[in-house]
Amino acid sequence: MSKKTLIVSTDNNHKIMEIKDIMKDMPFIILSKTEAGFGDIEVIEDGNTLEENATKKAVEIARRTKAIVIADDTGLFVDKLNGEPGVYSSRYSGENATYSDNNKKLLKELEGVSLEKRTAKFKTVISIVLEDKSIKLVSGECSGKIGFESKGDNGFGYDPLFLVDGYEKTFAELGEEIKNSISHRARALRNLKKELKNIIEDEENENSSNK
Ligand code: IMP
Repeated sequence: MSKKTLIVSTDNNHKIMEIKDIMKDMPFIILSKTEAGFGDIEVIEDGNTLEENATKKAVEIARRTKAIVIADDTGLFVDKLNGEPGVYSSRYSGENATYSDNNKKLLKELEGVSLEKRTAKFKTVISIVLEDKSIKLVSGECSGKIGFESKGDNGFGYDPLFLVDGYEKTFAELGEEIKNSISHRARALRNLKKELKNIIEDEENENSSNK
């Protein structure tokens, strides 16, 4: 079967590697934004939802190519804070915020809140723009609680504060291998793979019925 090109609207090497790994048995040539020649396209993530931001990032490239384009957006949703930081996770404590600034702010906002009430989830949305420009959305979630202090040296972002349900350790303590098998992003990527498999099967069925 001939391979299709799938452009991932990011230059984050870590994300590209994770996608290449999960898609290794699928008929796709996977290219980063820069590999596809779109390195200079910057998208302002000003949507009110993960879905809007992911779709904006994918569409911006898809309108310049015939290939399939995907883009993701992730947020941490804390119940006690009415879903904050959510879509603003990367800039929770202001523009150019560091991970450490954001974690400090999160701890401050949750001061005095007991562990049972510190429930939260990570959510990743992936927007897929297909060759006919139709848009599909898939997502993945991972539930847990926000700890009282940073723990662990692995990972990034809110990982040292996020106690994963069923493990009672932070993502930063669990390490990459476990994280990559249970994380919100891993689940979203597995759903992406299912969606792309269905699309390919539908196309094959259509092709064989047209013969
Ligand atoms: P992005 O959409 O992948 O750029 O994620 C937005 C923000 O969410 C990041 O800047 C991090 O603060 C946070 N974030 C995303 N994924 C993770 C994760 O797996 N662990 C911890 N924080 C994350």
